[in-house]
Amino acid sequence: MEESEAGAGAGAPVRTEGLTREFETSEGPFRALNGLDLAVAAGEFVVVMGPSGSGKTTLLNLLGALDTPTAGEAWIGGVALSGLTERERTSLRRTGVGFVFQQFNLVPHLSAMENVALPLVIDNRPRDERMDRARDLLGRVDLGARADALPATLSGGEQQRVAIARALVHEPAVVLADEPTGNLDSATGLDVVALMAELGRGDSDVERALVVVTHDEGVGALADRVVRLRDGRLDGAEG
Ligand code: ADP
Ligand code: MG
Repeated sequence: MEESEAGAGAGAPVRTEGLTREFETSEGPFRALNGLDLAVAAGEFVVVMGPSGSGKTTLLNLLGALDTPTAGEAWIGGVALSGLTERERTSLRRTGVGFVFQQFNLVPHLSAMENVALPLVIDNRPRDERMDRARDLLGRVDLGARADALPATLSGGEQQRVAIARALVHEPAVVLADEPTGNLDSATGLDVVALMAELGRGDSDVERALVVVTHDEGVGALADRVVRLRDGRLDGAEG
């Protein structure tokens, strides 16, 4: 689906307009996200901060087509998510957007290289091609020497770097990370986020939009722009 109108942020890898997610609760409807307008440009690194419960995860889940808004719209690469079929949403989640989570979500019995290559299995890519691609990506996150290591034998920072390599396996134009430093000490966390930012800018043909949710002000200091959420709205926004 085309963008509904031109204007600020038109054509941006990530854009939302009036993005709203209401949940039904025992106490009635609850707006976790309330009319959010946001655009993230190609090559831009935006950090989303805000207290627990302010709607950060809700926002990322909507941007990644893991969840559906109750009002408003999100565009990824200029494509309105509400216009996608279920099959197109699945395809977007698999190849258009890279996800990095607080729990690294690596498969414990697979090596670092096999974890990175795993998304390519679904694409039916030949094994040699998958392993070449995974080896290249592990090199980009400085883990070329640990390609055969099982996750449990890697440090937390190394495990998160494997997860980053996996998130990049389809060269997505958008990378979304929800508290990626939550299980890391602060110095390691900063290193990991700096690496994500670097992989978005240089070292690649893709000018990525990177959206990182964090509690860590140090992570915010690495960003091009910090967006603050409070009660599902941009902090400081009117009304
Ligand atoms: P954050 O990631 O900023 O901590 P979340 O986006 O996870 O916040 O949640 C925002 C608010 O929405 C919280 O008050 C949370 O309890 C509520 N919420 C999130 N998911 C659901 C759900 N599935 N049902 C009801 N309430 C929810
Ligand atoms: Mg959260």
